[in-house]
Amino acid sequence: MNESQKHTPVYLRISITDRCQHRCIYCMGPEGVAKFTHQDILSFAEIIRFVQVLKGHFGISSVRITGGEPLVRRGVVELVKMLAAQGLSELTLTTNGQSLAAMAGELKQAGLNRVNISLDSINPDTYRRLTRSGELEAALAGLAAALDSGLTPLKLNTVVLKGINSDEVVDIARFGIERRCEVRFLELMPIGPSAEHFADWFVSSQEILAELCQAFELEPTKTKFGSSSRKYLAQDSQGRQGIIGLISSSSSPFCRQCRRLRLTSTGKLIGCLARPEGPNIRPLLQDPGKANELSLVEMISDVLDIKGKRRLFWRAEPMVRIGG
Ligand code: SAM
Ligand code: SF4
Repeated sequence: MNESQKHTPVYLRISITDRCQHRCIYCMGPEGVAKFTHQDILSFAEIIRFVQVLKGHFGISSVRITGGEPLVRRGVVELVKMLAAQGLSELTLTTNGQSLAAMAGELKQAGLNRVNISLDSINPDTYRRLTRSGELEAALAGLAAALDSGLTPLKLNTVVLKGINSDEVVDIARFGIERRCEVRFLELMPIGPSAEHFADWFVSSQEILAELCQAFELEPTKTKFGSSSRKYLAQDSQGRQGIIGLISSSSSPFCRQCRRLRLTSTGKLIGCLARPEGPNIRPLLQDPGKANELSLVEMISDVLDIKGKRRLFWRAEPMVRIGG
């Protein structure tokens, strides 16, 4: 880690559950994953404790709540309230959108700034096939409610899979632009079940860009330090404009600028998806004494220190367990 990075605030992703009503084909197998019990999962107080220590010693640029599917965790609105009370510059959440229609208003009121919605297809059959159970209609209702509630700017995330949804790239980009949402196309990462299918499914950002160039004029925009996506201002033949991002985690990783930390739902601290393990910090969150705080700061520093020293990406643990 270089000197300027040391003083850059951390971007924290907190996974609050390993549960999800979907079984996306690239995220988990048809049988799902073995579930943790409620006792295995970090309590809200433990999560808040971690955020306070991180904020106090390292600075936080943004907190993103994720999972599994974060909206299936009981009390998520309460957690949003507790996190918002920590005075964060940005509090966001990534969701598949299935339960969002009923919750968008109260999440906004609780202090959530905005959401990212995973939308891998706008064709109901492909959506169902990809998620193994999801209803496109529910996700679209969630999207509409999020826009109405002001959970904006809203970003749509699409993982592009060859032969499955790769023919929808332009349609999804248009769909997002029409709704004033930024659309981000994600490269598949060889994690969990995707490792096995990587050669068949992977589509590079370059290929996605080539596809987009057929339908839009694309002008690169300035990339923010630490940003994971390369953004373009896109304009279609009718003059409609929007932002499209490409996230090239596999073909062109952004390790050097990365200040991202992940806290898994059971309390594992992960600095890099390309590294298999992280320390279990839960015992240090359970007893908020000064000695534990110092040990925690040391552990966080160690995890941040190995960032940028890339990397062997393939990992067996699925994203639903790590927190995407
Ligand atoms: N359930 C929520 C959702 O789907 O938005 C949040 C958790 S999900 C693990 C977070 C993000 O990780 C999603 O956008 C999903 O598409 C992405 N993801 C999961 N597995 C992935 C993989 N192997 N490669 C790339 N992205 C992946
Ligand atoms: Fe669930 Fe999100 Fe994984 Fe899909 S990507 S199975 S919605 S956690």
